[in-house]
Amino acid sequence: MTETFDNNLIEDTTVKLLKFAATQLPNDVSEALKKMYEAETKPTSKAALKTIVENFGIAEETSTPMCQDTGIHIYYVNIGENFPKVVGIEETLRKASARATKEVPMRPNAVNPIVGGNSGDNTGRHIPFINYDFIPGADYLEITAFPKGGGSENMCALAMLKPGQGIKGIKKFVIDSIMNAGGQPCPPVIVGVGIGGGADIALKLGKKQLMRPLGQRHSDPKIAQLEEDLLKAINMTGFGSMGLGGDVSTALDVKIEYAHRHPASLPVGVTIQCWAARRATCRIYPDKRVEFLTHKEA
Ligand code: SF4
Repeated sequence: MTETFDNNLIEDTTVKLLKFAATQLPNDVSEALKKMYEAETKPTSKAALKTIVENFGIAEETSTPMCQDTGIHIYYVNIGENFPKVVGIEETLRKASARATKEVPMRPNAVNPIVGGNSGDNTGRHIPFINYDFIPGADYLEITAFPKGGGSENMCALAMLKPGQGIKGIKKFVIDSIMNAGGQPCPPVIVGVGIGGGADIALKLGKKQLMRPLGQRHSDPKIAQLEEDLLKAINMTGFGSMGLGGDVSTALDVKIEYAHRHPASLPVGVTIQCWAARRATCRIYPDKRVEFLTHKEA
């Protein structure tokens, strides 16, 4: 019988990922927020940014969550095709979510939408939600823990545009979505946009872009330009940090990905991440070495 990989290591590492995600911003986000604080000229937004920077500093120092809403648990699991056989990864990640709920601690956020009632441990039907991908030629297992806040999630939006609306229509829908969101998603936000594919694909692609480091531009220069243009336009809305009115602090970044579309459809998914950009990623290698990509172990 083929030997299977050590699930205890995956579980323990995932609990650490959730702790990192809840208590420490990834370096790219914390640095961007500090720079934004320096750059903002409107006093109310600057004051809000000061509070945000102080808040995530205290959360990191004291190992406590940076926000009372510690999110709904989502994972991105990239399985290298040369990684040893893993059995029962879903159950392992569910155990990690339940353990982290107690150990970090994280607020229980998994509620039954039909009959009500909170499961109490951040697990439930299809929760944690796990996105799987296979990585050709890789020998590692890469896990990203992405506990997603509800306030910013509530402002995500989907449009099934007419193909003739083109890039102009896409830009308008993204800006309209931000105008509609205002201060509700706890800006400064990161905006992930998915274009094409289908309704579900556009939203999935958009959300996955929230995993990309800030400042990283799409490899296609046309899409990279669209990211820059939308970032500029979103910051011109003037909502600012926490919606208090600011000239540079509505959005930290815009990330876009596209898929080819049906001739009759132009889906656009807009996903929104608040300033508490909780994501933590690691790679586990066949020799059981663990590499944290977004955070440093003390
Ligand atoms: S949207 Fe983000 S910052 Fe606002 S309450 Fe939710 S998790 Fe916290």
